Amino acid sequence: VLRLRDVHKSYGRQEVLRGIDLDVAEGEVVCLLGPSGSGKSTLLRTINHLEPLDRGAVFLRDELIGYRESGGRLVELGDRELAGQRARFGMVFQGFNLFPHMTVLENVVEAPIRVRRESVATARTRAVDLLTSVGLADRADAYPRHLSGGQQQRVAIARALAMSPAVLLFDEPTSALDPELVGEVLDVMRHLAAGGMTMLVVTHEITFARDVADRAVFLDHGTIIEQGPAADVLERPRERRTREFLTHVR
Ligand code: ATP
Ligand code: MG
Repeated sequence: VLRLRDVHKSYGRQEVLRGIDLDVAEGEVVCLLGPSGSGKSTLLRTINHLEPLDRGAVFLRDELIGYRESGGRLVELGDRELAGQRARFGMVFQGFNLFPHMTVLENVVEAPIRVRRESVATARTRAVDLLTSVGLADRADAYPRHLSGGQQQRVAIARALAMSPAVLLFDEPTSALDPELVGEVLDVMRHLAAGGMTMLVVTHEITFARDVADRAVFLDHGTIIEQGPAADVLERPRERRTREFLTHVR
């Protein structure tokens, strides 16, 4: 479903992504690992065009993301078209990015109603189903500040799913959580993976990556150093930098 070709991105003179080629197949779970500053978050943001590319291309189901061709040149899409494309990616960040002034249910129905023009009734029915699937149906009318971090993150996942994304992108979804709350979020992600959701997950949760991911990709200095079946990369890394990283995070 997702195809990255020769993706480059610099901030000023700093080259953060140096030619990334990556494919994620339908239903595949790919974990992206790498040291701080290696470009993991930047890579996720270039995928849904929160960051423009300097070179290369991203395709979702064979559709070029962020640009269209015009007279042999690539032109950035307008805001409306970009919003439409972004809606096909669900994104869950490290922080809890719920709208604080909206209830849990309002958070989940917001995008379907505003972006997809769903009826309130349709959006609410689906939101209740999604909240049930993340174990939070009973908190639908609560405000985010009254939820634990783990609960907020589960709402964030339900909110992402409400747009029926083609791919879910996770950026360290558990790294801001108290340790005792990590498991409930990983359980929801495990469940999604088992249900066939396509997921690209930046995480330092090695056990999760080994158990759930089909593939692990190790990024360093904006380059993919090593990738392969998760068990191989995580248990028997071939590259020295991967081994060093794994000894630090374990
Ligand atoms: P972490 O594990 O700490 O989250 P990361 O792998 O996600 O790290 P990125 O956030 O992608 O790394 O950052 C890669 C590099 O790009 C870093 O050196 C960072 O300082 C730089 N960078 C990221 N975003 C910007 C920005 N908006 N402007 C300038 N530099 C940036
Ligand atoms: Mg990051």
